[in-house]
Amino acid sequence: MSTSFDAPASSLESKPGTPDFGPATDLVCRECGASYALGAAYACIECFGPLEVGYDLSGVTRELIESGPQNMWRYSCLLPVASYAGDERNLNPGLTRLVRADNLAAALGMTGTLWVKDDSGNPTHSFKDRVVAVAQSAARRLGLGTIACASTGNLANAVAAAAARAGQDSVVVIPSNLEDGKVLTTATYGGILLAVDGNYDDVNRLCSELIGDPLTADWGFVNVNLRPYYAEGSKTVGYEIAEQLGWRLPDQVVAPIASGSLLTKVDKAWRELAKLGLVDDTPWKVYGAQATGCSPVAQAFRDGRDVVKPVRPDTIAKSLAIGNPADGPYALDVVRRTGGAIEDVSDAEVVEGIRLLAETEGIFAETAGGVVVANLRKLLATGQLDGSKETVILNTGDGLKTLDAIADAVGPTATIAHDVDEVTRVISEHHARTPS
Ligand SMILES: *Cc1c(COP(=O)(O)O)cnc(C)c1O
Ligand SMILES: [Zn+2]
Repeated sequence: MSTSFDAPASSLESKPGTPDFGPATDLVCRECGASYALGAAYACIECFGPLEVGYDLSGVTRELIESGPQNMWRYSCLLPVASYAGDERNLNPGLTRLVRADNLAAALGMTGTLWVKDDSGNPTHSFKDRVVAVAQSAARRLGLGTIACASTGNLANAVAAAAARAGQDSVVVIPSNLEDGKVLTTATYGGILLAVDGNYDDVNRLCSELIGDPLTADWGFVNVNLRPYYAEGSKTVGYEIAEQLGWRLPDQVVAPIASGSLLTKVDKAWRELAKLGLVDDTPWKVYGAQATGCSPVAQAFRDGRDVVKPVRPDTIAKSLAIGNPADGPYALDVVRRTGGAIEDVSDAEVVEGIRLLAETEGIFAETAGGVVVANLRKLLATGQLDGSKETVILNTGDGLKTLDAIADAVGPTATIAHDVDEVTRVISEHHARTPS
């Protein structure tokens, strides 16, 4: 139960030659089922399909989890890491708040209970701290000294900060057009930050090419060659929602889609909990949310296609701007299997979504959160989502990092002189404009 942030990193040296991956057993191809030893592999040699961590999950109890630390490592028994990796020098993210959002529900005309899983409360203010924590753990066990990534912004923050905390080298590669709130924060954590002229898909391709290069022999790209481990970190969002609801599952969840990984892993987490008997196996629906300016998965859903056609992103929701999403087909599978839907909204609606969540619940989301709220409204309006059911929406990042998005839409009520009469005038004008 020791969760000291300053616990020594002694467990690092304790297992030379015998990496401990907790309950993980192998890497399994999601397409053909071929099995590989746990290592820095991410694509099947037989069919090029993506690899996913396989487990032998047994002996997991609610008590075991509840006796763990007050962060995501309480679910170590369900992750590819040694037990209680929280003893190591990492940022110990997770166990973010689940906020009951009655005001937002009322504003949207929902009669069922609405919750916001607010991952802006993580150490670098987005859910990416979770995925990096697992990938960083795996990198250590594989003897990879440098952590690297291709990022749409939040991952850059998470990797640079986690490396700083662990006294590790980092190399972060981003598109050069990202928000200052993501570039400057990343640069402040230190490490190498490479801004590439191009979009995220160009950055991702560059990183894939770098992986064969001798220069990167001891680099773990968290979302490329460590992707199977990285992706598992997103399961903790699903575990936490279930535990915070008192060990039960909600009726439906709305998740943002960039690569599509988070959405699929929330579903995977709930399937695992149901299979292990930790929650009742009640049905749930998974909904996906995109911005219209980068909506390849929503388009495939609407067209009834299995294939996701790559697009060139153009949206203020830069954290979701992946035009060629690796997990798009798997996100489609999850949404169709559970009976959900995937929608997209305009940038103007994203800004309205950010403002609505802030005005009703006091939660200032980044653009991705605005995408989710606006999609929730659209799904309700189009009758695709039942407002009488219990619903959880994911806020995955903090609005302070994407101030540019709302800069033209909001500002002071008035700019006035130091004068009581002016205050009186402004207040009465304000009340006249907004009755009640
Ligand atoms: C990366 C990111 C997502 C989506 O992640 P995927 O797993 O790639 O779909 C959602 N929200 C924010 C804020 C992100 O940074
Ligand atoms: Zn395969």
